[in-house]
Amino acid sequence: MKYDMVIGLEIHCELQTKTKIFCSCPTTFASPENENVCERCLGMPGTLPVINEKVVEYAAKAGLALNCKIANFSKMDRKNYFYPDLPKAYQISQFSQPLCEHGFVEITDGEKGTKKVGITRIHMEEDAGKLIHSDYGTLMDNNRCGVPLIEIVSEPDMTSVEDAYQYAVKIKSILESIGVSDCKMQEGSLRFDVNLSIMEEGSNEFGTRTEMKNLNSFKSLKRAIKGEYKRQVKVLEKGEKVIQETRKWDDEKGKSFSMRSKEDAHDYRYFPDPDLVPIILTDEDIERFRSELPTLPEEKKKEYIEKLGLSEYDSELLISTDGMSAFFDETVKNTDDVKTVVNFLIGDILAYLNNNETEFDDIKFTPKQLADLVNLMKGGDINLGIAKKVLNNMFETGDDPEKIVEEKGLKQISDTGEIKKLVEQVLNDNPQVVEDLKNGKKKAGGFVVGQVMRATKGQANPGVVNKLINEILGL
Ligand code: ADP
Ligand code: MG
Ligand code: ZN
Repeated sequence: MKYDMVIGLEIHCELQTKTKIFCSCPTTFASPENENVCERCLGMPGTLPVINEKVVEYAAKAGLALNCKIANFSKMDRKNYFYPDLPKAYQISQFSQPLCEHGFVEITDGEKGTKKVGITRIHMEEDAGKLIHSDYGTLMDNNRCGVPLIEIVSEPDMTSVEDAYQYAVKIKSILESIGVSDCKMQEGSLRFDVNLSIMEEGSNEFGTRTEMKNLNSFKSLKRAIKGEYKRQVKVLEKGEKVIQETRKWDDEKGKSFSMRSKEDAHDYRYFPDPDLVPIILTDEDIERFRSELPTLPEEKKKEYIEKLGLSEYDSELLISTDGMSAFFDETVKNTDDVKTVVNFLIGDILAYLNNNETEFDDIKFTPKQLADLVNLMKGGDINLGIAKKVLNNMFETGDDPEKIVEEKGLKQISDTGEIKKLVEQVLNDNPQVVEDLKNGKKKAGGFVVGQVMRATKGQANPGVVNKLINEILGL
């Protein structure tokens, strides 16, 4: 039997406001434990929450960027549950009247073009604290209590790992581009909950779903989906039933484990929060937010294709993180060699960032310096191999490429006399190669270039070497 998978994602995103959602404590990440707290975010009796206007603005902007309808009237509710990471024993969230509803994101769908993934709702809520399990028992850090969150709930419109990955990447790049969140997954600013069910191939009747909470990288998102799909297939093939439950994905073991049977909404006994007034946004407010949105990734992609002549593939990669497209936009202000900039960004630079688990924000050199590097190459001062070396050095030092080239004596040798001597020597030492070259074997030329490069520590101009080979052998 074959099975189709159905996926709906819930994404929690911490908003980058300076202060928390209902008090004026800072939202700074990694402060000493329990430093960013006050009576209000600790939920002391008698304290009253006051909503941070910036949170409403950011949440509404996220909604607009994700094609949602923004409510003129929405309100905050209490979601009751007794859990040690929330001192109040309830979370202030939105239930019956969320701020944003009925949005969508477009993802690519193989040869079929594009496909829409529906966004059911986006609501505002407060984050919970962190439990730290140690040898001395469980400790509690309340710094995160009251950090503003939006929760973006999708329709169950995704049917593959690729769909879910693309959707998650899109959401991240859109939220980054409008500046409402830094979306740093390693700091928990963006967390994915995967709801997944399977059904017989071609069926229209959804199966029972499970939910895996708090995945915090694209890699574990993909792995969790693959793993849970396999597990559910096994369950059905044994003739058993999938149980609706929350499961914990253990990325190290590559398996999910049952955590608790799934609670339904009524288990939370939601009710309107009596301490907070409703949130009223006029049409003018909403239009003002809309007018303040920057160019969104999708529009940028279009511009890259139409104005810069980049391919669909390159453009899609460039917009996959706001950091990269912003870096690109700045770089090409200082060089015309757009394609080389793209190649560096989606090649060496992206690889370096992935290997070192850092982001565009943390790069030590500026877009202008990358443009300088590309221009050095274009001007024939250095070749590609050397440019890559210089780039590596720039990652470490943040130095100007000119300075690195100068100090390390990396300038390309285009001086014909100097290279000619080397080429002649290689040809003299390798009669077979000369034979091959005369017989039209192009690969033999590569050998000569390689030898000359070795002798010059990669600094010879390969074009000049090739020209000289032909000249010397009269080819
Ligand atoms: P809850 O509030 O209990 O988490 P929701 O109804 O809000 O439940 O749904 C949560 C997520 O589960 C949504 O993203 C939705 O698209 C997804 N979902 C609902 N039914 C299914 C299903 N059968 N298979 C996969 N995902 C589903
Ligand atoms: Mg849920
Ligand atoms: Zn506080």
